[in-house]
Amino acid sequence: MTQSPIIIIGAGVAGVTSFYELAARAIPTVLIDSQSQVAQGASFANGAVLHPSLPDPWNNPGIGAPLLASIFNPLAPMKLHLGQVPKLLGWGADFLRNSTPSRHRAITQANYTLAQYSTRQTDALRHTLGLQFEAAELGTLKLFHNQAERAFALEMAQLLAPQGLVYEALDCDALFAREPSLAHAKPAADAVTGALYFPDDRVGNARMFCEQLLVHAQKLGGEVRLGAKATKLHREGNRVVGVEVDGELVRGQVVVSAGVGAREILAPLGINLPVQPAKGYSLTLSTQSLTGPRLAHPLVDPRLHISLTPLPDRIRILGMAEFMGHDRTIEPRRLRLLQQFFERLLPDMAAQLDWKNAEAWAGLRPMSSDGRPFIGATSVEGLWLNCGHGHLGWTMAVGSARLLADLIGGTKPEIEAAPFAFSGRKA
Ligand SMILES: Cc1cc2nc3c(=O)[nH]c(=O)nc-3n(C[C@H](O)[C@H](O)[C@H](O)COP(=O)(O)OP(=O)(O)OC[C@H]3O[C@@H](n4cnc5c(N)ncnc54)[C@H](O)[C@@H]3O)c2cc1C
Repeated sequence: MTQSPIIIIGAGVAGVTSFYELAARAIPTVLIDSQSQVAQGASFANGAVLHPSLPDPWNNPGIGAPLLASIFNPLAPMKLHLGQVPKLLGWGADFLRNSTPSRHRAITQANYTLAQYSTRQTDALRHTLGLQFEAAELGTLKLFHNQAERAFALEMAQLLAPQGLVYEALDCDALFAREPSLAHAKPAADAVTGALYFPDDRVGNARMFCEQLLVHAQKLGGEVRLGAKATKLHREGNRVVGVEVDGELVRGQVVVSAGVGAREILAPLGINLPVQPAKGYSLTLSTQSLTGPRLAHPLVDPRLHISLTPLPDRIRILGMAEFMGHDRTIEPRRLRLLQQFFERLLPDMAAQLDWKNAEAWAGLRPMSSDGRPFIGATSVEGLWLNCGHGHLGWTMAVGSARLLADLIGGTKPEIEAAPFAFSGRKA
């Protein structure tokens, strides 16, 4: 008798890496996505940074008041839209419940373990398979503007140093020496006053990575069905036996890695997955005509949720987090904010860029209410999760997929699975 395959719903970075890791363990696997190509959701034009240095969830202590105030500020970097409040009540309560200093610290540490493991395993795949995805070992610079931001960034870094996080605190002079392109920033009341440098962070294009890894997984025997929407999970007793795809029942166990679509797929089974969309934007510009110094490191401004990432012949600016359901409209005012941020920080470079031809994109981060992804079994037999990675989905992808494949294959995982288990975590 042939073994039923594992069916993976969703071909973003979580699904494609799961597909590869299962296929690499000789487990028959089918990857399904409603789109005609892989990585068309949140993995399409994300920030392109593998950043174990940023594992802290966004519900940092004290988030409640600014989040509520954001309802009345149309341009708040993290914005809650009034119309979403009723839908977000349970999720939001859990988001706030997990924002106490002790819970925030514990989740940050668990996320770091997974993010660090994942980044190393991404490196390993890159070298073993010879993947070309604009990967570069550039580190990142986390900027701060005042003493309070510096203290918070340092506290996070010191918390993670015993687990292996390497960092260096830079004052303005040291920052400009490491990143000379910043030395011409426009004077402003809230100018950058220093940074933390994280040498172990990396840059890489998630979409290119997915496209190439897919081919390797197919060579290992994995089957791909694109342009195929999973409409219903089929259950017999307490066991999932397959999934309906375009009216046809595909039999097998199921992994849900459907990003912000995961909640809808699971709801008919009575599973309330606390994952909500947080919209972010990116603008990608060609740097081919630039003269003068180029950006050497990705820059992260945690207060504004904005980052700049240098890619081989482009630069990507990304940011914002809007809680407004599944709306993916590109809002010009938000793009202008990204541009203004760039112009303040790097005026010489900004003046040379062709803003009219910038590629604008909006994507939905699948945010769990407590800031941790869901990886592993559910209470329903034959139903597995690999979703809810929020702002860390690319960083954590390969590690999450290996963890999941070990759990499915009955092998002892290389990192602790318990922090990412679904059981006991609900909104
Ligand atoms: C602006 C922005 C910047 C970011 N920057 C970074 C960064 O620098 N570093 C980092 O680590 N992370 C970053 N992230 C987060 C990261 O991109 C996401 O966490 C990650 O892409 C999520 O991957 P996923 O596979 O879970 O979801 P997705 O990539 O969204 O994939 C889900 C897939 O499921 C499919 N699907 C859904 N429902 C169904 C169905 N019923 N049937 C069939 N298919 C279905 C969808 O079509 C989609 O292809 C960023 C996100 C955004 C929005």
